[in-house]
Amino acid sequence: MRLPRIRKAREEKEQESESKETEKKRKTRTKKEKFVDPLELLNEYWNDVISTLGLSYLGLSEDEYKELIKEPFISAVGEVKTKPKVSTIIGRLSANREDLFAVLATKLAVMRDLNKMTDGQLEFVVYYIKEAIKGLGPRLYEECVRRKRDDLIDLLRSKWSQYGINSPVKCPKCGFNAVMPDYICYICRYSVPDKELKKQIGMPHLLVEYAKIDPSGFREIYTSGYFYYGWQGVIPPSKAKGLTGELLFEVVLSKADKEALKPFYIDSKNQSP
Ligand SMILES: [Zn+2]
Repeated sequence: MRLPRIRKAREEKEQESESKETEKKRKTRTKKEKFVDPLELLNEYWNDVISTLGLSYLGLSEDEYKELIKEPFISAVGEVKTKPKVSTIIGRLSANREDLFAVLATKLAVMRDLNKMTDGQLEFVVYYIKEAIKGLGPRLYEECVRRKRDDLIDLLRSKWSQYGINSPVKCPKCGFNAVMPDYICYICRYSVPDKELKKQIGMPHLLVEYAKIDPSGFREIYTSGYFYYGWQGVIPPSKAKGLTGELLFEVVLSKADKEALKPFYIDSKNQSP
């Protein structure tokens, strides 16, 4: 008979602490209501913020501007009980202008159709985009090609090398380092033929040079008929097993490749153990 009583006492205690918990929550909620509402502040300050940041040329509507800067604006306001001055908010926003603009460039690219953007808007996106180029790169490239903006394509290309999925194989069509291990260019979707990929990576000279550094690896490649290619160069099949998370291209030797490499193979067999 004692057990149920203990359980009951425990249950009562739990209920008690639960109601205390809800009371606490309610208290914090009432406290929160006293904080400055950043969205109200956004309504008042957006115009000053946009013009001070030099974004008026984007020519967006009031609603679009508010949408554009909403998230960074809210975090710049923070949780405060006294209303901050607009200069304080602008100061906080411009503390890291490059990163702020990268966020805004990404947001703008998501908010607006690229093909409906003004030239100024598209330029803003291309100038300031950073990591988001990983997702937006192909569409931005397509749009810049459509507008024949070679200057923007050049800029995109260097941004890709810096922030994109930088591949050791350059696309022969668009010039981006964006050919993926399936031999398809991530940026322009060009499917790179075997021969072209080999030309890009400098075959068969590449393997002739490799034979000098690693004769046994070279022999392995010659006899197995393929190798991997990555940022570190040639990798024999047996050494590629542990390499995950790297862009590795499987390159199969053609008859012609084997013919070209044959003398080096015979040489290497005679020279080293
Ligand atoms: Zn391409």
